[in-house]
Amino acid sequence: MILARYACDPALSRGRRYPEAPAPTRSDFQRDRDRIVHSTAFRRLVYKTQVFLNHEGDLFRTRLTHSLEVAQLGRSIARTLRLNEDLVEAIALAHDLGHTPFGHAGQDALNACLKNYNPESAGFEHNLQSLRVVDALEERYPAYNGLNLTFETREGILKHCSKANARHLEAREPGGVARRFLDAPDSFHGRQPSLEAQLANLADEIAYNAHDIDDGVRSGLLSLEQMEDVALFSQYRRETLQEHPALRGRRLLFEIIRRMLSAQVYDVMDATRLALQKAAPSDVQAVRQNLPLVCFSKEMALQSASLKRFLLQNLYRHRQVVQTTQAAQQVVRDLFEAYMTDPAQMPQTHIDRFDGIDTPHAAGAKPERVVADYIAGMTDRFAAKEHERLKGRAAFPV
Ligand code: MG
Repeated sequence: MILARYACDPALSRGRRYPEAPAPTRSDFQRDRDRIVHSTAFRRLVYKTQVFLNHEGDLFRTRLTHSLEVAQLGRSIARTLRLNEDLVEAIALAHDLGHTPFGHAGQDALNACLKNYNPESAGFEHNLQSLRVVDALEERYPAYNGLNLTFETREGILKHCSKANARHLEAREPGGVARRFLDAPDSFHGRQPSLEAQLANLADEIAYNAHDIDDGVRSGLLSLEQMEDVALFSQYRRETLQEHPALRGRRLLFEIIRRMLSAQVYDVMDATRLALQKAAPSDVQAVRQNLPLVCFSKEMALQSASLKRFLLQNLYRHRQVVQTTQAAQQVVRDLFEAYMTDPAQMPQTHIDRFDGIDTPHAAGAKPERVVADYIAGMTDRFAAKEHERLKGRAAFPV
């Protein structure tokens, strides 16, 4: 397939931090994707929570299946827009590598632990942690830490970054992946990543909005009736029932979600095509100087926002979800305290990383960062087991 002129061309990549000879049969972005799939952090995603804790049921999404869905949606949109599918896939598969166990609850708790321990701490951000995993924490290659991915994949992984953390990164890698977060806040210019990164980001949103409805209904926390309040949902429910009046239960739900997903995917294709026609970027550099170009239409953006609000109010803040969330946060706090008090409770390879420096690119770090890295890398069930070992009681009622 011939790529669009504004797509990322692996032959024009800004390269890897440690130069390497090209692979004989694979492009640099394919190679990035393959390195991510073979990483330890990637395998751990299978036992990490998306919304529901891993032990709550076998059929709920985990971070792994979520990441695969993001890659699927991203690839099919990329192909239509003649963007680089391999790069979108690499970013999609890596985008959640830095997530703690227990989803956002775990991340918030770990961030609070770091800041309480040291008010000067950069805290914990999952996007930055994903970058830290691929840049520093994976130990697979003889000559360097991390996976040595291309600039373009790393740029896509660092979706958000606080100014303070961006300054740390910039100091180690001038003009690198954090540069765009340091530019003038009143201007969008120079602040966008590639179209492939923008697409992986939007595909993430489309994926979780859809699968959280599915998991929410499966868990019994959401009902189809309740979903009538969401325009995007009720519209396709009506349409489906007109065509299949006898359809009920899970097949009805799947068909509604399938139609919602299709509508959003085609909407992104059309709206992005229009935005690209209007902005007419000549190349990736011009994309980076522009406003965001991968987008929903105005109408779909509103519908997607209202679906998000609905899920926040009715699912993520559901009493039952909040209760497990609180238990999960306690596990993270207890683990942090236990390892800070007695680092010998951690494997020696982690203790060996204590060196008093806290920089985003280095595997060596201050003790609190090493502890945070260790906890962040845990799967839900490993964290729960460790908690039981250290505290002598189960954290979650089974
Ligand atoms: Mg995600």
